[in-house]
Amino acid sequence: RLVAQRRISRFIGIGPEMLRHSALFAADAEFYASTDAFLEARSVSDFANEQILIKGSPKFGFSRIADMLEARMNETVLEVNLDAVASNFNFYRSHLRPDTLVVCMLKASGYGAGSYELAKTVQDRGAGYIAVAVTDEGADLRKAGITMPIMVLNPKVVDYHTLFANRLEPEIYSLDMAREIIREARKYGVSDYPVHIKIDTGMHRLGFFKEQLPQLVELLQSQSAIRPASVFSHLAVADMPSEAMDSYTRQQFAYFDECSALLQQGFKHHILRHILNTAGILRFPDHQFDMVRLGIGLYGIKILNDGSEDGLRPVSSLNTMVISIKEWPSGTTIGYGRRGVLSRPSRIATIPIGYADGLNRHLSNGVGQVFVGGRRCPIVGNICMDQCMVDVTDTDCQVGDRVEIFGEHIPVSEIADALGTIPYEVLTSVSTRVKRVYYRE
Ligand SMILES: *Cc1c(COP(=O)(O)O)cnc(C)c1O
Repeated sequence: RLVAQRRISRFIGIGPEMLRHSALFAADAEFYASTDAFLEARSVSDFANEQILIKGSPKFGFSRIADMLEARMNETVLEVNLDAVASNFNFYRSHLRPDTLVVCMLKASGYGAGSYELAKTVQDRGAGYIAVAVTDEGADLRKAGITMPIMVLNPKVVDYHTLFANRLEPEIYSLDMAREIIREARKYGVSDYPVHIKIDTGMHRLGFFKEQLPQLVELLQSQSAIRPASVFSHLAVADMPSEAMDSYTRQQFAYFDECSALLQQGFKHHILRHILNTAGILRFPDHQFDMVRLGIGLYGIKILNDGSEDGLRPVSSLNTMVISIKEWPSGTTIGYGRRGVLSRPSRIATIPIGYADGLNRHLSNGVGQVFVGGRRCPIVGNICMDQCMVDVTDTDCQVGDRVEIFGEHIPVSEIADALGTIPYEVLTSVSTRVKRVYYRE
């Protein structure tokens, strides 16, 4: 009766009790004598676009069903902890005045973690805005049901219909661009459309200089198609504490003060101001203005490493599993180019992750390590396109064991250091063919 009442569209009963009473259920309900019988009959491809509730006492081992559904069994998976995202959001929130808005930066598909799930999480947490890099990312979020304000940082080469129809608020960084958006807004019958004015205070990438502002103000005052909702700039060295760099940051603040005041003078409505990125939130809270832009910190990556970020929790963990183990005598070579030469009798495991998954090939030949069998093990030989080999001689790991590429034991920043790059690049390099699995604790 409950199954019918709660409009459960599909019912699967497992266990001898269930099987015995199957006649009491609707005709299309399925029954299996055991978890094993179910796992033999069904695979992940039998399920799609369903919300699945799994209930049963631990003795049935239903966690194996969850593993099957989450494709944890034999695939390389990026596991994303949404509770950690919420916790990191709150961590930065707690360093801000209560009325300061937070823009969550979800460009590059949420720094590789997946934009919809992250957007939903921060929308529920009360973020003021989210920001994406391109129009399509914003349109996808709208399609998926995200209703909060969305800023588009790089709206060039857009389809303006998509921009306006999805209420995506563009960044404006030049007079030409302002004119174009005004023209397009008129064409689509849009008025008072919120846009965000970017000032170049020292990043020297995009944005207005002080000298251009009188012309911009005049242009904006002369029309009603678009309206400056915010004025902002981006810090170049907030994450590099030193006398010289901090003095540069202070120059950026001073220039921003002047420019944002010039713009504000031209309008009666309050124009929101924002300049702080993640590092800036912790290091220069005096300059939080109306809003801050939280990026890398949301994903739990420590970039200052001065103790101020100790409350952060890692969000993403890249995992795979051992699919084969072989024993080799000393002197054997492993992989392409025979670059991995064994200096002792060794157990070598093969794992199904390669450079096409985002495991950078420069981590070959011991530069990179993975965590398996309770310890770190070096990558042996050259990383292949879809696989690589790991020296597991010092562990008793078995085929089927889980292998962490980064996560709890191997921080993303360690891989970034080994590659001479930044955690941002490591995170955004996990290729789209790697399945993302989201969980809450
Ligand atoms: C990416 C980005 C941020 C966030 O930077 P983090 O260092 O990840 O906090 C903020 N503002 C702009 C304009 C950005 O492009």
